[in-house]
Amino acid sequence: MYPMTKKKIKKNGAGISTQAVHAGEIRYNEYGSITTPIVQTSTFIFKNTEEIKKLPQGIEGRFEYGRYGHPTQMAAERKLATIEGAEDAVLFSSGMSAITTAMFALLKAGDHVIITDDAYKRTLDFCVTCLERFQIECSVVKMCDYTAIKNAIKPNTRIFFSESPTNPYLNIMDLERLMRIFRGRNVRIISDSTFATPYNQKPLEFGIDLVIHSATKYLGGHNDLLAGVALGKKELTSQVREYLKITGGVIDPHSSYLLIRGLKTFELRMQRHNENGMKVAAYLESNRKVRRVYYPGLRSHPHHRIACQQMKGFGGVVTFEVRDDIDYVHRFLERLRMINIGPSLGGAESLITHPASISYYKCTREQRLRLGIKDGLIRLAVGIENAEDIIADIEQALG
Ligand SMILES: *Cc1c(COP(=O)(O)O)cnc(C)c1O
Repeated sequence: MYPMTKKKIKKNGAGISTQAVHAGEIRYNEYGSITTPIVQTSTFIFKNTEEIKKLPQGIEGRFEYGRYGHPTQMAAERKLATIEGAEDAVLFSSGMSAITTAMFALLKAGDHVIITDDAYKRTLDFCVTCLERFQIECSVVKMCDYTAIKNAIKPNTRIFFSESPTNPYLNIMDLERLMRIFRGRNVRIISDSTFATPYNQKPLEFGIDLVIHSATKYLGGHNDLLAGVALGKKELTSQVREYLKITGGVIDPHSSYLLIRGLKTFELRMQRHNENGMKVAAYLESNRKVRRVYYPGLRSHPHHRIACQQMKGFGGVVTFEVRDDIDYVHRFLERLRMINIGPSLGGAESLITHPASISYYKCTREQRLRLGIKDGLIRLAVGIENAEDIIADIEQALG
């Protein structure tokens, strides 16, 4: 009746590129299309009243209404779940939609949340300003201060939220140590793994309950879509999926397709991002005009050892400091020829951003410094161009 069959690939043990190319894809026998179709519809019609009568038992392969899920989304979800090694994946229209929906689904008034200070700014905003309005308490603790994390736990703590690596300093959370702190407690551990991707790090293997990615970044990989994903055990993701049906942050069919397409080259792109990140970081560290470089792959990074233990590679984001002078930084940005100035990361194109005058332009200098954002701080998201060309562009601009 519904001529869709899943492709059969071995789930465990297949290489990550094989998973990225084949997992989750729908083969439409009807058309024989090798690519998963973009099923561009808002609703799915009933063939007859017999189908309506079968609704309570559920019908394999039957969809109802776009907000409750659609075939292109389902294919992308299965692919992501396979790559991450998760039981289930739930896709959203953005990373923030994944984060907010997951938190709302798992929290209620009177609960307490712990989040690390070095987290994505909007996630922090959500916890500190939004959750509090719903009588959900939030403690912000210092990233990697394991004593502070332990001391922040209360009887009503239900979620611990963190990122690794973080933005912009690429701090690394020791996942094993973190799990030891929370062992035996009724607290869900959520990790935003956007900067690591499932190529470089698999938090679920450490016992993390829910992994979140902004799929806008490396997973999509081409700076052309917005998406987010929550992955974990079905017991948890099904609660999140039910809530998504209410909050409505569903991914559209076309973005689902772009994500599927972007993922085909996931491993190749990540290998290049890792390689480029390392080369550019090493170059920056050797440049006299650069005061400091933050990259977990460098020995000079405070969390280099733990990064080497729990990660396969260190990704494409390299943060560095030059002279603490906004005009000096702006002149440097002006002189770049290939590298574009803009937020985001994880796409084919290299992007550079200046946190003090872009992400934190509303803050006073004192507020920024309190958050650790110096005027000379620059974040470079290395793309998949040739490393020599990225380096040459920085070299002439620093010139
Ligand atoms: C970009 C980003 C987000 C937000 O994702 P969107 O897709 O932009 O909504 C969350 N966390 C991290 C670490 C990010 O880099």
